[in-house]
Amino acid sequence: MRGDKGYDLLDFDMLGLAPTLNDALKRAGFTEPTPIQNQAIPLAMQGHDILGLAQTGTGKTLAFGLPLIDTLLAQPGKPAPKTAKALILAPTRELVNQIADSLRVLTDGSKIRVTTVVGGQSIGRQINLLSRGTDILVATPGRLIDLMDRRAVDLRSVCHLVLDEADQMLDMGFIHALRKIAPQLGTPRQTMLFSATMPKQMEELSRAYLDNPRRVQVSPPGK
Ligand code: ADP
Ligand code: MG
Repeated sequence: MRGDKGYDLLDFDMLGLAPTLNDALKRAGFTEPTPIQNQAIPLAMQGHDILGLAQTGTGKTLAFGLPLIDTLLAQPGKPAPKTAKALILAPTRELVNQIADSLRVLTDGSKIRVTTVVGGQSIGRQINLLSRGTDILVATPGRLIDLMDRRAVDLRSVCHLVLDEADQMLDMGFIHALRKIAPQLGTPRQTMLFSATMPKQMEELSRAYLDNPRRVQVSPPGK
C-alpha cells in the first residue's frame, strides 16, 4: 500500500468524476474529499475491489457512493423489473436510510433510482417498489433475504456490491446471509467492503468475496 502522501488531492474536481456529479457535489456543499474518499475513489473508479478500514464519521458513504454513481451514470438503460444494478448492504435500518439519503442528494435530477428495503416496514410496499427495478438497492441483509425468498427481487444484474460496516454485520450472523445472497449476484462484479475493525473473520470474508482488493485505511481521528 502506498503512503497517504500519494493521495494528497485537494479538490473533488481532481478525482475524474463525471461533470454532473462534480456539479451535484458543489450544490451539496462538498468541496474537498476526506482522506478515505481520496484513497478509495480513484481505485474504485479503476474497477478494483476495495477493502476499506475506517472509523465512523470518516466519509465512507461517498467513498463508495461516488464511484458507484459515476459508473451508473455512464450506464444508461432502465433496470429491468425486480432487478438492481448495485447492492449496498448495511447492518441497520438507520444506516440504510442514511446511506440512501446521502446518495439521493447526488442523484437528484439524474435517472438513477435509489431504493431501500429494511425490516420493520411493510414488505408489501417494498415488493411493489422493487417490481419496477432500481439502480441502487440499499438493504439490511435479513429483509433482503425475505424478499429473495418471495421472489420479489432478482439480483443477477447486480455488478457492484458494497458491504458497509461489515464488522457490525458479522456480529449479526452476516456470514450466513452472505452465503445466500452472494451466489445470486452477477459476475463479474466489483465488491467494496468497509469496516471499522479488521478481526480475523473479516480477513476470511475478504478472501471469500473480494478479488485482489486494494486496501485503503485511515487512522481514527486524533491519531
Ligand atoms: P461514515 O460512513 O464513515 O461514518 P459518512 O459517510 O456518514 O461517514 O459521513 C459523515 C459525515 O461527513 C456526513 O455528515 C457527511 O455528509 C459528511 N461528509 C462526507 N464527506 C464529506 C466531504 N468530503 N466534505 C465534507 N463533509 C463530508
Ligand atoms: Mg457509514
